[in-house]
Amino acid sequence: MPVTAVVGANWGDEGKGKITDALAGTSNIVVRFQGGSNAGHTIINEKGKFALSLLPSGVCRPGTINVIGPGVAFHPGDFFAELDNLIERGIPAPELRVSDRAQLVTPYHRLFDALEEERLGDRQFGSTKKGIAPFYADKYLKLGVQVADLFDERRLLARLETALEAKNVLLRQLYGKSELDAASVAEQLLRDAERLKPYVCDTTELLQSAWKRGESILVEGQLGALRDPDHGIYPFSTSSSTLAGFASVGAGLPPYAIDRVVAVTKAYSSCVGTGPFVTELHGAEAEELRKRGGDAGEYGVVTKRPRRVGWFDAVATRYGCMVQGATEVALTNLDVLGYLDEIPLCVQYRTESGTTGSFPVNAQLETAQPVLEKMPGWRTAISDVRSFDKLPREAQAYVLRIEELIGVPVRRVSVGPHRDQMFER
Ligand code: GDP
Repeated sequence: MPVTAVVGANWGDEGKGKITDALAGTSNIVVRFQGGSNAGHTIINEKGKFALSLLPSGVCRPGTINVIGPGVAFHPGDFFAELDNLIERGIPAPELRVSDRAQLVTPYHRLFDALEEERLGDRQFGSTKKGIAPFYADKYLKLGVQVADLFDERRLLARLETALEAKNVLLRQLYGKSELDAASVAEQLLRDAERLKPYVCDTTELLQSAWKRGESILVEGQLGALRDPDHGIYPFSTSSSTLAGFASVGAGLPPYAIDRVVAVTKAYSSCVGTGPFVTELHGAEAEELRKRGGDAGEYGVVTKRPRRVGWFDAVATRYGCMVQGATEVALTNLDVLGYLDEIPLCVQYRTESGTTGSFPVNAQLETAQPVLEKMPGWRTAISDVRSFDKLPREAQAYVLRIEELIGVPVRRVSVGPHRDQMFER
């Protein structure tokens, strides 16, 4: 059985949660491999609407094992808050496993995230203040704390003392705050340790054995290709790789195990937070699309911030699919565009050095203008459609044009937020 990656082709919020939840119905295991609780995934099924941010999107599928891999920024408090919420709302307790090598988002990571954004003022990156950038900085500075350290108090304390040495200087001298004490941070972290213990294991062994047995595994990315620190819109990127290529590392699977990469993209563009966004709309046109988008308008799942919206961007999406290594595309939110007489889509960028179909570096991206093409709209509701040939001709033409521009087959089309509102081509 293949290992499938479900990843974003754009800036995040493409609808990966819905696609993962749908594909999880035929998967044994779903794995989160990067990021933390800083971005949400929306899942809508017969039990209601769920906004997940740390739990893998297979948690609503009884029998599916959900794994938090070593690459994840793990916050025990958020983990239990989400888990409790699911159970309270009638979802059977999911099978969850947390890697003993995953590292912990500590209270000081969140503190530094907030202090640094405050210090930057109008130069801030629009962090969700979930501690993600300070967490990954510590990881690569080798100052992180692994989940396994929670079960060895002496080691935990020693790791925290080392981590806090330089941080306390910064707290005092740069931010004018009082110092932190390793023992009291340890005490806070240990509060959840006993409850966490049954979920913790060597998830790499678990995944490798499952893969060798031929079980079906889904690896689920957070955010999208354009937020990748190497290939995205740096510095308006996130702090861990959002690419399918990193999934083998962050999950703990051989690189050649992943043989199917589903890149998810919306039929228009949306983007939370700052950074260049070439097809962005403003004013009444933006408000109209924002109001109609997603399941309840385009507002961030974690932040509730209004998402920036724009027309479909074939330059960014072709690039996003390329760096993801997409073998197929899932196109979501097609239903949202049913109100338009004509649908513009961006086919090239006009930059200072000419017109291009390639996604440029940030310096050029900031002044790039979209070259738009217009397609006829279908002006009708399509959420009940369950096959490509039943779509209005104009909607079919729109999907085919997107496929042609990005050069990857559109295998799935999603026509509503509910799990069932989707069909395969
Ligand atoms: P993710 O982070 O990639 O999982 O995406 P989010 O859940 O943050 O955002 C996607 C939004 O689109 C959510 O509001 C979903 O409920 C919604 N959604 C997903 N697919 C569709 C669709 O085909 N049509 C509509 N109208 N909404 C959708």
